[in-house]
Parts: sequence; structure tokens; C-alpha cells
Amino acid sequence: MSDQFLLAVDLGGTKIATCIGTLEGQIIKKSVEKTKSNGTSYEIVAQVISAISNLVNELGIRSKLRGLGIGCPGIVDSNRGVVVSTPNLPWRDLPLKALIEAEFKDVEIFLDNDANCATLAEFHHGAGVGNDNMLYLTVSTGIGAGLILNGSLYRGKDSCAGEIGHMIMERRSNIQCGCGQYGCLETLASGTAIARIAQERLKEGAGSEILKLVKSIEEVDAQIVGIAAKEDGLAKAILNEAFEYLGLAIVNLINTLNVDVIVIGGGVAKLGPLLFDQVRKVVAERLAKSPTCDTPIVPSRLGDEAGLKGALRLVLDSITCHY
Ligand SMILES: [Zn+2]
Repeated sequence: MSDQFLLAVDLGGTKIATCIGTLEGQIIKKSVEKTKSNGTSYEIVAQVISAISNLVNELGIRSKLRGLGIGCPGIVDSNRGVVVSTPNLPWRDLPLKALIEAEFKDVEIFLDNDANCATLAEFHHGAGVGNDNMLYLTVSTGIGAGLILNGSLYRGKDSCAGEIGHMIMERRSNIQCGCGQYGCLETLASGTAIARIAQERLKEGAGSEILKLVKSIEEVDAQIVGIAAKEDGLAKAILNEAFEYLGLAIVNLINTLNVDVIVIGGGVAKLGPLLFDQVRKVVAERLAKSPTCDTPIVPSRLGDEAGLKGALRLVLDSITCHY
């Protein structure tokens, strides 16, 4: 058994996953618990500290910890170890690194955005292996992304690179995004957007099989629309339009970045061919005259473990003594 270990935390608005990993980036023990709903920022930090302390004590490896990586949603300033803001947790300018350091004084701690962590995981262990330049997109309740350029994660001047969900795709839109703007990709192609559009169309009285799958219109979400789309014209049309916007955003990104591969994960990507066929069709059509028209667009491989594996990788990429 190795004599040094890493810790990783994947912190989300609904669950907190923690694990102990090896210096090779493999997970050896993991735990998942629900995030305390309505908890204050300090209560949630206490919950994280308690979860990792339990794991460490169980394996008796407190003195063998080499580093701790944390992925969390929102805008994260990796250099200062501060969570600037999050969409689903009540955090503003939270010094998360310093708060955890107070309990784990002798352990190096690294913090990054969850999409960046998933990007690192897919790049080193998943669908991006073997490439130098990769764009990772996560399409779930929101739309996030991470960017690997010349083998390294690109964060940008303000740690805001990859905020692709807020690319403005509609010049005139009356749907306001969580960021305050109008016409963002996230309001057109995220799981939340698909649910909203389907609910609106059903409330307007559109004929659809979707209603046979739910007790009330409010229960309709992207997964339900996906199930209905096999037989139902409205469901199929809603998804085709949403994924056309996603495809157009990807066309713009391919034209800007000319990456080797585009990896798509997140809950909505689990709709599989409904998403990938449409996105690939849009890319093939819009880039027909460009050598980039065959840029591979592939599903993520790591699923729910991407966050933890990426947080482990964050440590491995950062610690001075690289094994
Ligand atoms: Zn936005």
C-alpha cells in the first residue's frame, strides 16, 4: 500500500462527494452525502470538514496526506482559494481554502470550478486522452465548460474562462438568465431551458404524449422530454431546437479554438443520440467548407466520478513533487 494519499471533494448544491485517492489518481475509498439544504456557508464548510475527517480517520492515514483538491460550482479564484459566487449555494467571496486549512494545517489545498475539475479528469483519464487541446462541455441544469490548451487547463485572467453557458445566442430575447443577461445559451439549451420550453408549450395547449408520462405539467423535465421524443413530435422538435443552439455554439467555439476534440457530459448528455446526432449534424452543415467539420464530438466517459477524479488531478498537477 502506498505511503502517501490524496483527498478530493466534489461539492455540489445537492450532494457532497469525498474520496481518498492514490498518487496515481485512483480512488480507493469514497463517500457521498446530501448537502445540508438551507445550510449557511459555514455549516456546509463544517459538513465538508466532517466528511473528509471521517474518511481519513476510517483509514488511519492522517499523517500520510499529501494534498486536498476541491471542486465546487460557480466562479472560483484558484489562486486565492476563494469561491467568488455560486449559483446554487449561498456563497459570496467565501475563503474556502483558508477555512479548510484551519483544520488540515499540514495539507496542501487546491480549489477549482467543478467544470474545470471534470475537464481535467476527462483529459487525463477519460474521453480526452491522447489529445493536446480539448473543450469539455457539461449540459445539465446549467451549461458549463472547461478548456485544455496545449496540455494545460486554461482559466483566464479572472478565472472565468469556459463560461460558455453565457454566450449570447439570441440578440433579442425576453428570457432572463441566472447571470442577469438575456439570450444566453443556458436559457436555450440547458436542462432547465428544455423543461421550461416544454412546460410553456404544454400550457399553451400543444398536443403531446409528454403529458401521459407525468401527473402535472410542472413535473416535465429534460429527461421526460427525452423519453417522450422517441414517439412524440413536440418533444422531438423541442430537443432538436435546443440542440441546434448547442450545435451553433459549438460551431462558434470550433471556429475560435480549433481544438482536437469536444467532450460533452452532464445529465442532458445522457439523452445520447438525441443530443449528439443533432449537434454533429449542425457542425457538419455549418462547417462543411472547413477542415474542422470532422472535429470529433464525443460523450464523456467518467460519468459521476469525473468531479472527484478531476479534484485528485488538480492536486497531482499542482504539488511540486510530481510522482
Ligand atoms: Zn447567462
